[in-house]
Amino acid sequence: MEYRKIGKSGIVVSRLGFGGIPIQRVDVREVRPVLDVLKDGGVNFIDSARAYTVSESFIGEALKHDRKDWVVATKSMARSYSDMARDIDISLAELQTDYIDIYQLHNIKTEEEMDKVLAPGGALEALVEAKKAGKIRAIGITTHNKDLLKKLLAAYEFETMMLPLNLVETDKEDAFINAKDLGVGTIAMKPLAGGFFGESQEFPADVALYYLKNFSAADVVLVGMAEVNEARQNLEIFNSEVDLAAKVEALKEKASFAAREFCRRCGYCQPCPVGIGIPTIFVLETYYDRYGLPGWAKERYKNLAVKADACQECGLCESRCPYGIPIRRKLKEVHRKLGVE
Ligand code: SF4
Ligand code: SF4
Repeated sequence: MEYRKIGKSGIVVSRLGFGGIPIQRVDVREVRPVLDVLKDGGVNFIDSARAYTVSESFIGEALKHDRKDWVVATKSMARSYSDMARDIDISLAELQTDYIDIYQLHNIKTEEEMDKVLAPGGALEALVEAKKAGKIRAIGITTHNKDLLKKLLAAYEFETMMLPLNLVETDKEDAFINAKDLGVGTIAMKPLAGGFFGESQEFPADVALYYLKNFSAADVVLVGMAEVNEARQNLEIFNSEVDLAAKVEALKEKASFAAREFCRRCGYCQPCPVGIGIPTIFVLETYYDRYGLPGWAKERYKNLAVKADACQECGLCESRCPYGIPIRRKLKEVHRKLGVE
């Protein structure tokens, strides 16, 4: 396993990191076995978020006996001083620790949000205060928008940044290189494009991860894991000399075409005011189109309480989607495919 000093923080992290989203769907007792496999393989980095329901508390439970062996990062969507100060204390309690290595402003989406967190009385003030008090060691930023990231890094000396990077979002490579030039630690999220890679043999996860491993400007590659087998497979890429370079370019070309309107299932478009489960509906489309399960997909769609045709075209979801997916048009297409009896 390769290690990096992340930015100017002095914190040493493994290149492969554990992403804390998927453990929301398992039992708390299943978390530690995954971490044991990762620890044996040299992983020391864990990322969670206040927004990931039980994730922080499951991690806190799992790290009861060896907290100090791990670099723990988490994040909050709080935008004001008081909300962030409260969230830092909640994170500390949920993670059962008296310090958090990296605390991040989670998913800054607009310039208005940026201005709010940076202004007096904004969330950054609470993070700075918490750092002085020893509650956190470093302050980071996460976003899906590389232009906004540039402005954020110019406005404040964040120690880390987190941005999606994968074979269908290679346009963000320059943002990683620029951040490294500024001395900022870089964390790549969504290396499998929200499950796009690894769902079929056509788009293999090992090649997608190999691309990230070899992209030197990403200090940490954060992979969501909830099963021991996933941990072993991911370690295989980061701990072996396997050479998949010849396959990367071909996969990039194929994937960029296939994923133009691919929903990353991030859920940022939710909630919809009329209750449409947008990512769920797009997942059913994937089963219909790509997995050869059209009957199953149609049956599942039929049982949804709110279907795509309930859309009132308010556009709220599209304003929230960081990938610019034309959700309204796609919902109509999916309904035409799956809604017919
Ligand atoms: S445009 Fe349709 S799907 Fe999107 S939030 Fe509005 S009602 Fe919901
Ligand atoms: S439509 Fe966009 S915001 Fe919604 S889950 Fe998919 S990628 Fe995320």
